[in-house]
Amino acid sequence: MPRPIRATIHTAALANNLDVARRHAPDAKVWSVVKANAYGHGIERAFPGLRETDGFGLLDLNEAVRLRELGWAGPILLLEGFFEPADLKVIDEYGLTTTVHCDEQLRMLEGARLSKPLTVQLKMNSGMNRLGFVPERYRAAWERVRAMPGVGQIVLMTHFSDADGERGVDYQMEAFERGARDIPGERCLANSAATLFHPQTHYAWVRPGIALYGGSPSGRTADVEGLGLQPAMTLESEVIAVQELGAGQTVGYGSVFTAERPMRIGVVACGYADGYPRHAPTGTPVLVAGILTQVVGRVSMDMLMVDLSPVPEARVGSNAVLWGRGLPIDDVACACGTIGYELMCALAPRVPVIEQ
Ligand SMILES: *Cc1c(COP(=O)(O)O)cnc(C)c1O
Repeated sequence: MPRPIRATIHTAALANNLDVARRHAPDAKVWSVVKANAYGHGIERAFPGLRETDGFGLLDLNEAVRLRELGWAGPILLLEGFFEPADLKVIDEYGLTTTVHCDEQLRMLEGARLSKPLTVQLKMNSGMNRLGFVPERYRAAWERVRAMPGVGQIVLMTHFSDADGERGVDYQMEAFERGARDIPGERCLANSAATLFHPQTHYAWVRPGIALYGGSPSGRTADVEGLGLQPAMTLESEVIAVQELGAGQTVGYGSVFTAERPMRIGVVACGYADGYPRHAPTGTPVLVAGILTQVVGRVSMDMLMVDLSPVPEARVGSNAVLWGRGLPIDDVACACGTIGYELMCALAPRVPVIEQ
């Protein structure tokens, strides 16, 4: 028998979350962002739940090819564009849409021989200072792309730094409108946070990622409460041993947890080699047999230990949910000083995954 750990991908939850995004941006088309192997869910496993989307956004050419092989004939957007001239052959062959964000890409595109009109999303750096042309140079870049005979449609694009936070989107909206003034064409601005929280950013296309997987863009569960998002991944395992500790005894490597009184400890078959964060401190939430309890001591490679005090009925074979249904991934992430994105993306290849 394999170790009891498994991840379940909830197809209906993905479809539900796509609907939630659509309800927030009813007039926009949706690029469902499936980069990083669908945020760790697996492109192949996420695809059935997201097939009602208008397009898929991702980074790797091989992920785009995998989508075509699954039968997806609709739009696919490369969010960082291409990295070398040879990529443009694949883009042409598979009919992909590409981001263009820098002068090097403009030069490569000018030298490309394309068999069909290429749709370009021309990216503006509206203040995040990661990718794109600054507002002052945007129109010139647009005119250069428009002059290329191989290019068909040009979509105007930017990306927000703070759509989930206090600074918000206004400073970038102002820069975007300034740089894109009088330039015709569809616009594509909104990530999940902007899709859910900033309707003025919606335009023709939105680009939600984390929301499709049921995560919170800010990493705070409270920020998405009541929106109807459902977790798309549940990571669960079982208790494989129970220890009775006396007061003063310690648990696991480094003896970082000491029992103050006699207590029962459950050993769960999940460790950092499964993608569970090693830095999860004592107090990180876990569900055992449906009851909320906590990690105690240091997470090891294949196991972690939990406090069974609130779950007296727990024994070897009891279910343990690490995140997902019944335990928001952002609550776990928050205890670990990170966000749900990082945990879901880190699910290790050795964890068996089922679709349900
Ligand atoms: C990842 C990404 C998104 C999706 O972001 P979320 O915060 O997951 O919604 C949208 N646009 C671009 C360019 C991205 O790289």
